Amino acid sequence: MMRSRQARLSTSATRAVRVGCVAVVLILRAAAPSPANALAPSQIVSTESHVTYSFADEMTFSIHALSGTPIDRCYLFFRAATEERTRSVEISVLPAPEIFVTHTVRLQEAPLPPFASISYWWEFRDTDGNRVTTASRDVQYNDNRFEWQMVADGPLTIYWLEGDARFGQAALDIARTSLMEIALELGAPQPKPVSIYIYDSQAQLARAMGIARRDWAAGQAHPELGTIVIAVPNRDGYTNQMANFIPHEISHLLVYAVMTPAGYQYAPEWLDEGIAVVNEGLPTPEYAVALQQAAEDGQLMSLADLCRPFPSDAYGARLAYAQSGSIVRFIREEYGVHQIRGLLQAYAGGASCAVGIEEELGLSMDGLETRWRNSLAPRGVWRTYAEQYGPYIGILVLGLLLAIPMVGLGISRSSNGHR
Ligand SMILES: [Zn+2]
Repeated sequence: MMRSRQARLSTSATRAVRVGCVAVVLILRAAAPSPANALAPSQIVSTESHVTYSFADEMTFSIHALSGTPIDRCYLFFRAATEERTRSVEISVLPAPEIFVTHTVRLQEAPLPPFASISYWWEFRDTDGNRVTTASRDVQYNDNRFEWQMVADGPLTIYWLEGDARFGQAALDIARTSLMEIALELGAPQPKPVSIYIYDSQAQLARAMGIARRDWAAGQAHPELGTIVIAVPNRDGYTNQMANFIPHEISHLLVYAVMTPAGYQYAPEWLDEGIAVVNEGLPTPEYAVALQQAAEDGQLMSLADLCRPFPSDAYGARLAYAQSGSIVRFIREEYGVHQIRGLLQAYAGGASCAVGIEEELGLSMDGLETRWRNSLAPRGVWRTYAEQYGPYIGILVLGLLLAIPMVGLGISRSSNGHR
């Protein structure tokens, strides 16, 4: 069980720093001889470095430092594992041989990426110009507002909020199978540790991840962190949702592993998301509806549009996911799964969206789009869909009848992926 850590936080960062430093320095000067007296004039030593945080609210860094000569400058540096930019803060201190410093970061104003590892270190200077930099330490920035339940097996760890042990075990089983099957299909290397966090609602997930404008999103993959965050309410049918969301997000992690961190930035959205949609365990009726309607209305998106980040509105996103899944399925069936791997390699090498298709399939982007559209036209989207999901068709029709009112309300099962 992962314990929630409640931070004991000051109400004002600046005030906390000044009050803390002044008060402590005065006490030490008036009381027993300071341990700083035992230090050589050029020696600066730090001890008791701590970090506490309250997720999405505040993170407080604190440290105690001693010096043979009064310390008059103090800097804090910190950086999330997923960020290139190091944040730095100069904290004003009154010159003293012993200081206690705290600094509070307001995370609503300066958010840190959820579930990332945060590295931090300090630098001190004394009045003689000596300086010392502490070793870098890490703190894992998780959502500590909740008591997460946990179950693990091999590289996989599942964290969830609502539901009993069967809920966590179901997620673990689906994740284990997905990881094995999709890695085999994509020729992906052995996975590193993967953490899957399961929130109880989409709204809760959207708030935690700061994606309020995409509150239709039911999942996010953060391949660079090996972390997946999904929303699955603890109610009947939760395994069906897990069977879609977990393999979808695991696909993103494995595409990242195949393409390497340097190559992943070139992955076209349609390919990355299309592979993820194709790996979902059950058909999503909303995708079939979106594809059918757009085809009939002449509103299908162009393949060039699908190379870019998808629309953020629920309807546009749903169509983009539906089309991407359909195109990847078409390539897999017409050209073989080895061509999917070939496309990933081409893009990992930096090929543009169009050039990757030309190199690997010997087609222009328009040529591929035309062939794919033609594959829909004669048989119709629904017939294609029925052929692909024959065994599920009874469930599908029932599901569609239930789903149509939801589509009308704009409630969607989609992932906004990792972008
Ligand atoms: Zn996705």
